[in-house]
Amino acid sequence: MNMKERFLKALKGEEVDKVPVVSVTQTAIVELMDQTGAAWPEAHSDAQKMADLAVASYEVCGLEGVRAPYCLTVLAEAMGCEVNMGTKNRQPSITGHPYPKGVDNLAMPDNLFEQGRIPAVMEAMKLMRDKVGDEVPIIAGMEGPITLASDLASVKKFMKWSIKKPEDFQTILDFACDACIEYANGLLEAGADVISVPDPVASPDLMAPDSFDKILKPVLQRFADGVNGPMVLHVCGNVTPILEMMAECHFESISIEEKVKDLAGAKAKVGDKVSICGNVSSPFTLLAGDEAKVKADSTRALEDGVDVLAPGCGIAPDTPVSNLKAMVEARDEYYA
Ligand SMILES: [Zn+2]
Repeated sequence: MNMKERFLKALKGEEVDKVPVVSVTQTAIVELMDQTGAAWPEAHSDAQKMADLAVASYEVCGLEGVRAPYCLTVLAEAMGCEVNMGTKNRQPSITGHPYPKGVDNLAMPDNLFEQGRIPAVMEAMKLMRDKVGDEVPIIAGMEGPITLASDLASVKKFMKWSIKKPEDFQTILDFACDACIEYANGLLEAGADVISVPDPVASPDLMAPDSFDKILKPVLQRFADGVNGPMVLHVCGNVTPILEMMAECHFESISIEEKVKDLAGAKAKVGDKVSICGNVSSPFTLLAGDEAKVKADSTRALEDGVDVLAPGCGIAPDTPVSNLKAMVEARDEYYA
């Protein structure tokens, strides 16, 4: 079983010889930027640098997949948002929104795939495939429809519409979902094996579980149904109250943080509806912990039945290579 077969089977909840170790969330770290010469912010826009930095987490750290890009702003930018590109250790962020005034003039760009950094991301998918061949999975990351909708409207207006203008709220969600479907299918055509979708604005920290169930879940279901490949849904924070709902969004897998304290309980709750990726703490263990803590947390996740051993959320750029290697070693020792 090669790495790609193992990861795809694990995502579908099928039997594997060992649990794969893959980051389905942001993977770039400063140590690898220094080793490869491919650094942020250039690696967000330059296809070759984007690919080189992604491949390094596989070649140097031993992660069993290659993932790009490194932010949640590519589609938002292509749809008209303004972006601050950040620094070597700070991710890009949205600074301007095209539709804060309302949903009357929503316009899908012509030639979406020619907008902003989308051509670079598509090219990076091909460069990564050329570099790692067919037996290593390529994961394309992109913002989910809920986060995209809030970027298009601004978080403030998005939250306001969710309460005071439910029709406008639904309209912007549907518009964002259409764009996400088109973009995800484009990424698959460009060579991605899996689409990984962090959707942080869907977190129970921001949206009530009842809203997730009634309004966001149908949007995520339509997104997943419209995409022709396996997908992972990542929602930040303690998603314990919405685990069953996340499992019903038609994604193959869900990615959860360590804030979900009871991983074995989460596995029991979602049953065979989805697999689970996670949940080694990105800030507290991979960034701030030592190798012993990484191994202890990784072993616990494996014992609790995680399907893909992974960071709980995006890897912090200042995380040491040694801690990512320790996560892979922990898996190897678990099966030794
Ligand atoms: Zn997260």
